[in-house]
Amino acid sequence: MTPKMEEFIARFRPETPCLLFDLDLLADNYRRLAAALPMAEIYYAVKANPAAPVLQTLATLGSNFDAASLAEIDRCLAAGADASRIAFGNTIKKQSDIAAAFALGIRVFTFDCAEELEKLAIAAPGASVICRIFVDNDGARWPLGAKFGCAAGAASDLLVKAQGSGLAPLGVAFHVGSQQTDLASWDMAIGQAAMIFTELRERGIELATLNIGGGVPVAYAQEVPEEAAAITAIQQSLARHFGNRMPAIMAEPGRCLAATAGMVRSEVVLATQRDGQDVRWVYLDIGKFGGLAETIDEAIQYPIVTERDGGNPVPTVLAGPTCDGADVLYQIAGYQLPAELGAGDWVEFRHAGAYTASYSSVGFNGFGPLKEYYL
Ligand SMILES: *Cc1c(COP(=O)(O)O)cnc(C)c1O
Repeated sequence: MTPKMEEFIARFRPETPCLLFDLDLLADNYRRLAAALPMAEIYYAVKANPAAPVLQTLATLGSNFDAASLAEIDRCLAAGADASRIAFGNTIKKQSDIAAAFALGIRVFTFDCAEELEKLAIAAPGASVICRIFVDNDGARWPLGAKFGCAAGAASDLLVKAQGSGLAPLGVAFHVGSQQTDLASWDMAIGQAAMIFTELRERGIELATLNIGGGVPVAYAQEVPEEAAAITAIQQSLARHFGNRMPAIMAEPGRCLAATAGMVRSEVVLATQRDGQDVRWVYLDIGKFGGLAETIDEAIQYPIVTERDGGNPVPTVLAGPTCDGADVLYQIAGYQLPAELGAGDWVEFRHAGAYTASYSSVGFNGFGPLKEYYL
């Protein structure tokens, strides 16, 4: 909660559920990260929060952008970012979208298999390509799993093939998984990437860039390593594995830039003790479909603040307002909320500026998308 948010709530009493987002905090987060990673170019992962004020703020601060779709590219351009500052980072792209992005001036694309390379060679001739490798996502609260990345052993052949098909092999990318809590995962990934740089050097190709993805964790309700510790671990690994042959570094933070700048404000719709259960059920006006999708498997556990804090904490299940049985936020995470909490009271989800508003459904059960206020 920031003074700007407090003032906004006091003055306008916004209808809930809504996201309040303090752009000053976003700018602070960007400046802190950029200062901590002076050797890296920051490519903000647009999917974390693609709202125009967020992109404009970051564009003004000099950020680059990691876009996953043509629509995200358009948003970055509209926010004032030059095409040279935007990378098309999704490894899964329609050929028509590659062509459209290329026509807009996008020149850096990520791929992870020969079939995607074929599309790029046709639709983005001469463009720079980065090969994404699969790395272990253990320790990530929101893993990206097996969906992306070639085997590290396949990367050099693919990058040689890229050159053979008229593309410019630029580098290697990985993502250790979002909300990564195990600092050793960066070391393993950077070590694997360094081996690919060596293999390609032996084959006559000097790669220029290592893209270290995102994954820097945010201090939600569960304990995680501090951001500064994660950055230090990354820097030490880069020095260990690349030494004085340091490539240009791209970093793609999403969560650690946007999350702490926002909070979701909601209201209790119903609170009741269910017969035969020793927990209280608190139903809010926001749930999984209203923007809190990262509560799937209770993966992301937001710090929760309520109007009745200071009362008598009791075991509580938190659920959304829809008629869907899956719309339960927290049942096993062990939240204890005040027994005094009742209908009409406000409940706030802190650090909810990333991966919330753009996840909210267009109107499941008649509940509209999350309202957003950028302050
Ligand atoms: C989602 C994503 C990111 C951002 O990850 P965070 O954990 O939010 O920092 C970065 N790069 C790629 C390719 C992504 O898909």
